[in-house]
Amino acid sequence: MARIVQKYGGTSVRDVDRIKEVAKRIKQTRDQGNQVVVVVSARSGVTNQLIATAKSIVAQPNERELDMLLAIGEQETIALTAMALQALGVPAVSRTGAQAGIMTDLVHTKAKIKNIDASLIEKDLARGDVVIVAGFQGMNEEGSTTTLGRGGSDLTAIALAYALKADNCEILTDVDGVYTADPRVVPGARKLAEISYEEMLELASLGSKVMQSRSVEFASKYNVNFEVRSSFNNNPGTIVKEESASMEKVVVRGVAVDKDQAKVTVSGIPDKPGTAARIFKTLAASHVVVDMIVQNIGRNGVANLTFTVPRDDSARAEKTVAAILEDIGGGNVSVIANIAKLSVVGVGMRTHSGVAASVFQTLADHNINIDLISTSEIKISIVIELDKADEAARAVHKEFGLG
Ligand code: ASP
Ligand code: MG
Repeated sequence: MARIVQKYGGTSVRDVDRIKEVAKRIKQTRDQGNQVVVVVSARSGVTNQLIATAKSIVAQPNERELDMLLAIGEQETIALTAMALQALGVPAVSRTGAQAGIMTDLVHTKAKIKNIDASLIEKDLARGDVVIVAGFQGMNEEGSTTTLGRGGSDLTAIALAYALKADNCEILTDVDGVYTADPRVVPGARKLAEISYEEMLELASLGSKVMQSRSVEFASKYNVNFEVRSSFNNNPGTIVKEESASMEKVVVRGVAVDKDQAKVTVSGIPDKPGTAARIFKTLAASHVVVDMIVQNIGRNGVANLTFTVPRDDSARAEKTVAAILEDIGGGNVSVIANIAKLSVVGVGMRTHSGVAASVFQTLADHNINIDLISTSEIKISIVIELDKADEAARAVHKEFGLG
């Protein structure tokens, strides 16, 4: 008998019909002789609605009460899913995060899981029940409900798979798995059979938002293998696991495009210690998350600094920096919004050389100008003109034989 954790996301349980479909799928898994623990999200859109309702009362709702409110979304789907299973003759029991023993730290709206006491779930399983656990929520040591950050049901599933020593963890969603590129942009994009945690993290944080990043980090830290697959069909998905020697043979695993960034340039600033520190400190204080940073070599005592930020934050970034320019001794700040970030990801880059050269040559062949470049051990990111982003993705995808 195997022990399986399945997680169904918001679109998979978006209405009663879907919940009935999900129940059938869970029944099939159990009928094969498995113990099954299921984690469900709120119905799609419900969490957003709850947040909007709270904000219609007060612009910045108390975070403890917000968590109390948001937890309702998942509490609805666990009960409905358990009922749907019972209607099929399958013994099932629903559990909130607290009832499932998910203990978190004291931080509200983005709590971290501290430990899981799985003893009650173990008893449910021993009795033969399917256990349906509310994703995204836990309880802190003060007995208050906490939530794990948006998309946090993924984390609930991975952490439970670890705590219960599950044989399998399936993340069931509305896509068939992780692709070599966004199929809407690159028609030849292929579904990957497997991918390493690190590649998954890079691709997820680069705009192919299949899963909550924190859940992948957790899986990587505790080596929890999992499969991302669709709940709408029976196609095999993508297995996410530790990097292996065979994975390194593939130089490039995927190509991602992020079209939600803008470029901020601060020019003519004093070339002296402390200038960059001041600029990024004020940006951090106004909660602007900075991505790529490039500074050129100072000349005649002045330097230029360029960085990218989420496009929605670019006006705030510009204002924030403009406010301190006089203080730091002069300079100008400007925003260019029509940019895109193209990223090429693969653990094989650790052991292969020449990847950057091929990417640059491919862009040159298409007459696409390179603006900023940044690299890590397994990734090359390039800022280019927004209008050229799709063409660039297709060209690079082809160059590396991805599909
Ligand atoms: N319902 C929560 C959200 O929308 C958690 C999740 O779906 O994973 O963020
Ligand atoms: Mg989700």
